[in-house]
Order: sequence, then structure tokens, then C-alpha cells
Amino acid sequence: MPKIQPQPGIMDIELYQAGSSHATGAENTVKLSSNENPFGPSPAAIEALGKTAHMLHRYPSTDHLPLRKAIAEAFDLWSDNIICGVGSDEIISFLCYAYAGPGDEVIHTEHGFAMYRISTLAAGATPVEVPEHRRLTDVDAILAACNERTKIVFIANPNNPTGTMIAEAEVRRLAEGIPSHTILVLDGAYAEYVEGYDGGTRLVHSYENVVMTRTFSKLYGLGGLRVGWGYGPKHIIDTLNRIRGPFNVSLPALAAAEAAVKDQAYADQCRDENTRLRAWLANALAEHGVASDTSMTNFILARFNSQEEAEACDEYLKSQGLIVRRVGGYNLPECLRITVGDEASCRRVAHAVGQFKGQKND
Ligand SMILES: *Cc1c(COP(=O)(O)O)cnc(C)c1O
Repeated sequence: MPKIQPQPGIMDIELYQAGSSHATGAENTVKLSSNENPFGPSPAAIEALGKTAHMLHRYPSTDHLPLRKAIAEAFDLWSDNIICGVGSDEIISFLCYAYAGPGDEVIHTEHGFAMYRISTLAAGATPVEVPEHRRLTDVDAILAACNERTKIVFIANPNNPTGTMIAEAEVRRLAEGIPSHTILVLDGAYAEYVEGYDGGTRLVHSYENVVMTRTFSKLYGLGGLRVGWGYGPKHIIDTLNRIRGPFNVSLPALAAAEAAVKDQAYADQCRDENTRLRAWLANALAEHGVASDTSMTNFILARFNSQEEAEACDEYLKSQGLIVRRVGGYNLPECLRITVGDEASCRRVAHAVGQFKGQKND
């Protein structure tokens, strides 16, 4: 045994598998594996980022006040209850470090986002996986799994990689039913794709133990910059700020995110285009015999007849320069997650799936 040993739990962490970005040999590859906005960020965000180029010797602000104010304005929130992080991934890890440790349990769902488990193990706590019901978050199953050791419950609504969403009344039932020593985290990474949805804001306002996380990586098209945020009761935000690095979000990232959230017209355009193309793609796949649940996000979880068929289709798509995401690691081996790209990408991927299905039937 080497003398240097990491903390318990660390070696149980399996490395996060990012959506791949290469298809060797194919030309004109399109990456549809990481739920990125195919149109990129608002031009105003790129301009704001550029202006920071001559200020890079300066440290960024530590309190992120201009960005928090812009977020509060855009979503009708209290700026004092917002914390900004290096992606919402960082907010997820702050929550685990601050509230869960050895002997504690953290609940995530069967097809829940990989970072919940990773951050739980990193904090030395025990991840508890709860079944979903036909790829839908199952509130009763979560409530049944709660006990005196449960410190955090993570759900994403809408969820990745299923794309499904549960009603606010169901989430409220969950918030009502969990123990008072448990924090409910509502991951709203895809909230902006749902017209008229508040991401869980009302629930944060109603309870002392509900937190919402959000990101600039999806609708706002800034995944490369790494900016996310959390919204919660003051006592939790104050706690998280104690373990946050004082300069965690970089100067260019703060500037670009602020400009992005102020450009709601651009965000609306991206949402509308996603809604239109998502419906088209789901329908085109269905016509080729590939089913999917109604997606509330910027991707479709395409269901095949078997793991073998899903993997063969993935190989075929790759040969056509189309990179999608295998989700065997999310207990969905018979599925492929396909990001809704621009119109040309949607057409290419639908056409290729049709060819794949046609070949098999010949
Ligand atoms: C993409 C995603 C995130 C966040 O990503 P960041 O880039 O770290 O903000 C969080 N939760 C879910 C469910 C996601 O799909």
C-alpha cells in the first residue's frame, strides 16, 4: 500500500465522460453530444468579453454584484440570494462540501446528472440512487428513500438525459415531504427552454431548505466560459459563500454572462428556434421508428429496440460525421441523446437515422 492515500470515497469516483467532439475520418462533423446552443452566445456577450482583453491584469470582483443584479433583474429574483460559480457544477459541489460528509446520504435519481454522484463522493458522503418511473422523477420513491442521514436531494427538472419534466405540484409535494434537515436542490440547467417556467423560484421562496441551480452553458451558449449560479435562502447562500474561492469566476466570464442575460431578445430567439426544431426532429425520428419521450429541453433521448441497435446507430452516425451521446452510464443503454442542433444538423441526423433503420430492414 502506498503511504499517500486519498480521502475515503475519492477512488470510487469514475471520471466524468464528456460528450465526444471527434469523429475520425468523417468530414463536416457536427457535435450534438453536449447540449450546446448551436447558435452560440449573444453577440453582445462576445463584444463584452472582447472588451475585457485589456483588463486581464486585474482581478475580477469577488461579490459578482453586477452579474447578480443582472440575473435578478432578468428573472425577478433577490440579488442577495444569488451565488455565482464556475458553472453550476461548482454550485453543486459547494452544496455537497458544505452540507454532506462521511456517514451522510445524498439522493439522486436513476437517470440523474453524473455530477451529483461525483460531488457527493468527493465530499466523503454516500450517494443513494433512487428509481425513476418510466424515465420520470418519482417523488414517492425519493420520499421513501429519505431518512435521518439524508442531507441533500438532487433533481433536475427538466432532467438530463431524459428530457422529461414533472409538474410544479409534484415538486412541491417533494419539498413538503422531505425531512426538514434535508436540502432539496432543483437543478434548472434547462429551465430557460420551458416557456413561462420559473425554474423553481416560487419553491425557493416558500421553503427554508430549497435551492435552485442555473447555468449559462445551455440556452445562453457560454459552456466554454463556465458560469452558473444558485438561488436559495440567505442562510444557505451565506454558507456556500464561505467555501467559494474569492475570485472563482473570471473577469471575461463575468462580463460575458452579464451581457448575455441582459439580451433576453436573443435568448427568446434561441428558445423559439429550439422548440420548433425539437418538434421537427422528434417527429422525423418517430417516422423512422425511433421513439422518444416529450422533451422539454434542447435534446431528444432517442430510444432504440436494444443496446446493440443503439450502439450500431451511434457507429453509423459517427461514420456520417454526426456525434451524439451514448447514455449507458445513465442506465439508458438502449438510448442515444441527440442535441437539437441548427436546421441543417437536424435534417442530417434525421436522414442518417432513417438510412440506418432502412439498411437494417433491407
Ligand atoms: C449541463 C448541465 C449542468 C451544468 O453545467 P455547467 O456547465 O456546469 O453549468 C447542470 N446540470 C445538468 C442536469 C446539466 O445537464
